[in-house]
Amino acid sequence: MPETDPTLSTRARHERQLALIHRVARIATETSPLRQKLQQIVVLLKQHMGCEFVACVSIDAQAGRFRCEAMASDLPTVIHVGYSRELGSGVVGEVAATGQRIYVADVAEHPNYVETMPGTRSELCVAIRYNSEVMGALNAESARTHAFADSIDLLITIAEQVAGILAASRLNDEQRRRVEFLGMLSELSRAASEAEGLNETLHRIVHFFRDRFALETSAMMLVDDAGERLRLNSHAGASVFQGRSGGDWPSNLGVIGRAFRTGQAIYVPDVAEDPDYVLGNPSVVSEFVLPVRHHGRFIGLLNLETSNVDSFNDANRQMLSALAEQVAGAIHLASTNERLREINRLVQEKSAALAQANHQLLLANGQLEKLSNLDGLTGIANRRRFDKALHAEWHRALRHNRPLSLLLIDVDEFKSFNDGNGHLAGDDALRRLAGALSEGLSRGEDLVARYGGEEFAVLLPETGIDDAIRVAEHLQRAVAELAVAHGHSAHSSVLTLSIGINSLMPSETDLIGGFVERADRALYRAKAMGRNRIECAD
Ligand code: GH3
Ligand code: MG
Ligand code: MG
Repeated sequence: MPETDPTLSTRARHERQLALIHRVARIATETSPLRQKLQQIVVLLKQHMGCEFVACVSIDAQAGRFRCEAMASDLPTVIHVGYSRELGSGVVGEVAATGQRIYVADVAEHPNYVETMPGTRSELCVAIRYNSEVMGALNAESARTHAFADSIDLLITIAEQVAGILAASRLNDEQRRRVEFLGMLSELSRAASEAEGLNETLHRIVHFFRDRFALETSAMMLVDDAGERLRLNSHAGASVFQGRSGGDWPSNLGVIGRAFRTGQAIYVPDVAEDPDYVLGNPSVVSEFVLPVRHHGRFIGLLNLETSNVDSFNDANRQMLSALAEQVAGAIHLASTNERLREINRLVQEKSAALAQANHQLLLANGQLEKLSNLDGLTGIANRRRFDKALHAEWHRALRHNRPLSLLLIDVDEFKSFNDGNGHLAGDDALRRLAGALSEGLSRGEDLVARYGGEEFAVLLPETGIDDAIRVAEHLQRAVAELAVAHGHSAHSSVLTLSIGINSLMPSETDLIGGFVERADRALYRAKAMGRNRIECAD
């Protein structure tokens, strides 16, 4: 039964109104799309108020227009969903512009009445307000005059409910856009971070924009280091850029050139009206060029073109601008990484060369070390090595309270051997003697060295005097068995050795020099006593 039914009691009318408010509240909490909710509400209102027409309009303050979002009518009308008119025009336009409700009890008496439904006699329109903002209006029309006197408060209440629905939907949209934006942001950074090198990064970026915003074409230009030239690095989709990848883009060409020269983002809603637009793809209607800056430095341009004007609506342009900032970071990272990779490669190359050189040096050093410890003529240890060994063994014997023996050996009458047989034969003899002495030592820790000229020294760790004498005798025998013919000696037909021995348990008061000197004195005595002898220090 309609609201205006005079047979209804006041109480029954209140109950019907409450029921309506409840139903609207239930609709508000449903998950259906906004338009569907509004549609359900206008149908309920028309039924409740028993009038011929109810509509819900929204306001696009920027465009200065209101637009029909939902309507229900029993009579023919020019109004339809999507119908739009300027703010201020007609009763609804006036309410939308001022936020003040208007009740026209008789349209014949209202100057601003615009007839949209022939036969309308009275009209009630209330604003849908959220906080201080007028978001829209609810409008009811009746073929009777004075039809809405009792419905004003009810319509105001429903308008408040609708305001809640519109605000929630707006927040929802915003939330959805935010989530979508975050998703895109992470998708973009992932695409960039997974790329190998700058070119692949740019390639992924242009494809990301083209795919995500369903664009006709997307291109990325980078500015050279001098900031003078634009280079087309990457593009996706059919466009004027085809075949130009890697080439320069003239700074006076196209909307891109204008954005480059001004450093500003440029949005061209209709490319047909922009004299700078360079036609490449005939289905393009809008172009959006965004400067890409990293910490304020202009590094390039992102060029986006679409065949659907909605791709570049306010919300999307805002999102694209924010994404362009992300692009700057990705490009910077990619070029830094590329430079880093190059540096790493060089470092690695140099390191490998260095390692090779070090290895060679090590080998050479080892060889040198070995050589520096060996006597060049005989191949046995040299004096240097002997001195080191003597020093080490001396201190070891001192530490452990162990005996140490030294044999100083001198070849007898070697000057006459040389003189008589020649220096080369002398060298050869020294080599053979050294060989015999080396072989004559059985323990690894014993050391025979060429002490100088035709003198040798034998160091015997852990060896007391008795054993030292035995070793000396053994060596003398070995040389005798070698039987190197002398031919120029009055005393012997073969080369012989004189040996001086010193054996000691070193103490702190002893000196290495003294130890050697006593062996030398013993050797001197062996010479003095006729050669080919062994003498021990006192
Ligand atoms: P003595 O029995 O007293 O030791 O007499 P000697 O002739 O052996 O002693 P002297 O010190 O007078 O001579 C040592 C000689 O050894 C002199 C030198 O020509 C020779 N000689 C030293 N080193 C070498 C060498 O590397 N090669 C050759 N062929 N001869 C050397
Ligand atoms: Mg000598
Ligand atoms: Mg000699």
